[in-house]
Amino acid sequence: MSNISFFEEVNNCFDKASRHTSIDQGLLKCIKVCNSSYHVTFPLVRDNGEVEVVQAWRAEHSHHKLPTKGGIRYSEMVNEDEVMALAALMTYKCAIVDVPFGGAKGGIQINARQLSEKERERLTRRYTYELVRKGFIGPGVDVPAPDYGTGEQEMAWIVDAFAALNPQMDADACVTGKPVALSGIRGRTEATGRGVFFGIREACAVKEDMEKLGLSPGLEGKKIIVQGLGNVGYHSANFFEQAGAMIVGVMEYEGGIYNDQGLNLQQVVDHRRANNSILGFPGSRNIEDSKQGLELPCDILVPAALEHQISEENAPRIQAKIIAEAANGPLTSEAHEILVKKGVLIVPDIYLNAGGVTVSYFEWLKNISHVRFGRIGKRFEQSSQNSMLQAIEMATGRKFSEEERKLLSKDADEVTLVDSGLEDTMVNAYGEIWETHKRHNVDLRIASFINAINKVAVIYQRRGIFP
Ligand code: GLU
Repeated sequence: MSNISFFEEVNNCFDKASRHTSIDQGLLKCIKVCNSSYHVTFPLVRDNGEVEVVQAWRAEHSHHKLPTKGGIRYSEMVNEDEVMALAALMTYKCAIVDVPFGGAKGGIQINARQLSEKERERLTRRYTYELVRKGFIGPGVDVPAPDYGTGEQEMAWIVDAFAALNPQMDADACVTGKPVALSGIRGRTEATGRGVFFGIREACAVKEDMEKLGLSPGLEGKKIIVQGLGNVGYHSANFFEQAGAMIVGVMEYEGGIYNDQGLNLQQVVDHRRANNSILGFPGSRNIEDSKQGLELPCDILVPAALEHQISEENAPRIQAKIIAEAANGPLTSEAHEILVKKGVLIVPDIYLNAGGVTVSYFEWLKNISHVRFGRIGKRFEQSSQNSMLQAIEMATGRKFSEEERKLLSKDADEVTLVDSGLEDTMVNAYGEIWETHKRHNVDLRIASFINAINKVAVIYQRRGIFP
């Protein structure tokens, strides 16, 4: 097992990709480093009165665009290297989908599943306070979002704590992924999963790539194993199922299930809720060690949990022909090499899971501009929709045709705008990555890095170095 760190792995990809650019070495060094990382230790009073001391971080990788942006994870495994690596991935991810943010990531080293709701609330509010104290959160500074182990409830506590600590400030845009009732945006919860779906749909539409894999183009009938039924895994699986693909395996931390003839996703979710375990789902085979479940036969493997799930140890046994990196960093660099050599098509995280931050960007735009898609009046509705259309055009670099504009303005609601903006974003970015992959004869991960580095470098170049 290699002993290079996650951040070093990200930087190895960066180095490989940068050889295909003509960017100055000094500039590359500036881009690559993590600009700032804040480590804090604070107490959490448990419900039984005991005091636990927790460690937390927030890393801001690049300030070439502000605010910096990225989720907050609650996991026992979080450490500084991990948040720095994930913050770097956020920088590149945002660049790939033309979302004008720098990258950031935060985490609290705790198993949130063992906390009561009240404990999670105290933890989240105190963490927000620590970020406020050091200037690591704010609508124009650094804007967190959900990540592994957090969701819209945590984001609601964050905005409430931030607003209480900054009574003079317009606080809504300090965090995204909020509940819709708290200035969130419709479609944010499903956004990452929907983006994963669009990305894989694009990959599967390329006839020559599918031929190389011995697969037919399209998603219809493709067999899929999903690791992780959290927000990203569940929604991706749901969209795949709706598109006619077949979910044959679902792996969770308590174990996994597999049925070559297909599993009904909703029934699996209901079963897990009722039994507190995925195991024992009628008609399926139990997989006690869910990591081994990743090695079972399928066309598309969707790791949607944590990083480093596939390493040099299990990579040779992976049977999937396509790997959809819904999680951040699910393959080690050795695993990546092994799988690429085997001819597996890897659709990389920095592109594939960018749907979350793309819709976060729409939410943030909505919050800072106070655009409301709503029922205030016909004229206002029309003008707010126009500004959202413009925002989506800016974000995607694509112009809506008059026809589309009419259609969208006429009966568009927030969901339509968000989903079509997301779809355009994912489709355009895949096209750009695919072209780079062909032009430089590199895999899709390196191609994604090349595109990201080129886009970020232009901004560094024009800004120069202070003083
Ligand atoms: N945590 C998500 C990610 O890793 C979303 C980040 C965001 O919306 O800011 O991309």
